[in-house]
Amino acid sequence: MSFTNLVKQPKEVITQFMNSFDTVLTDCDGVLWLEEEPIEGSAEVINTLKELGKRVFFVTNNSCKIRDDFVKKAKKMNFKCEKDDIISTAVGPEGLSQELELVGIKSIGVGPDVMQTSFKNTLEEFKADPDIGAVVVGYDEHFSYVKMFKAATYLSNPNVLFVGTNSDEQYPNRYDYIVPGTGTILIAVKTAAQREPFIVGKPEAYIADFIKNEYGMDPKRTLMIGDRCNTDILLGTRCGFQTMLVLSGITTFKEATQRKQSKKQEEKDLVPDVYLEKLGDLLLPIHP
Ligand code: PLP
Ligand code: CA
Repeated sequence: MSFTNLVKQPKEVITQFMNSFDTVLTDCDGVLWLEEEPIEGSAEVINTLKELGKRVFFVTNNSCKIRDDFVKKAKKMNFKCEKDDIISTAVGPEGLSQELELVGIKSIGVGPDVMQTSFKNTLEEFKADPDIGAVVVGYDEHFSYVKMFKAATYLSNPNVLFVGTNSDEQYPNRYDYIVPGTGTILIAVKTAAQREPFIVGKPEAYIADFIKNEYGMDPKRTLMIGDRCNTDILLGTRCGFQTMLVLSGITTFKEATQRKQSKKQEEKDLVPDVYLEKLGDLLLPIHP
């Protein structure tokens, strides 16, 4: 199948599709919820998939929350979910320091960091700490010129690792706002540092490799669900998973249709096998 509206298919086709995978990796924001609001029917579908014996992982590029907080959020919206089900890039402002600390890594640089009375004073006050081993760029509402300058200075030492949580350009919301994503911050830092980061989140395979090594899964019997073609669907294509796009988040029907019609392979890699308006539309067809 290629960009096929799943719920419009005959019942046998839907059943065959449902029987063709036993692991599900689902994106969170745009598929399960939009910010703090659940997307109608998503919890019921995820819980039904679990009842049908599928192993479900919540795979998010959101680096702001630690996994315990994701579990709380998911449970509040009636998703059946445990900490081990969450695979995140949790290295954002608060998530960053807390998840790093859990594995014994100290961090600095959380919170506001603004220019002193003059740029000269800022330069004079900044003493690069020789113990810094890595610069990790995650979502940061306090991102500033000063932080960029410090990050780039640390990165001028080739032994300092450069890690980015994710490269999302924008985040979905219920309004017509454009919410700049972590990718915008990462591009600023990498331009200043003139170095390429190691990216943890979707569409890089690191996350999928982690799940494969930790839990084992057969790529052909794995379904990736996402709202965004250039992260979720591309990850699925790269890893040999089946792919499902929902239109409740970032990627629009028009965009996906244009990609399907394109002759370029890099555009074709972003085309999902199946799509739905929203995940909840699957409830009736799959309910046992
Ligand atoms: N990072 C941040 C800071 C976000 O706010 C969001 C979504 O709102 C994301 C990443 C994207 O998360 P997901 O991969 O679950 O869509
Ligand atoms: Ca998403």
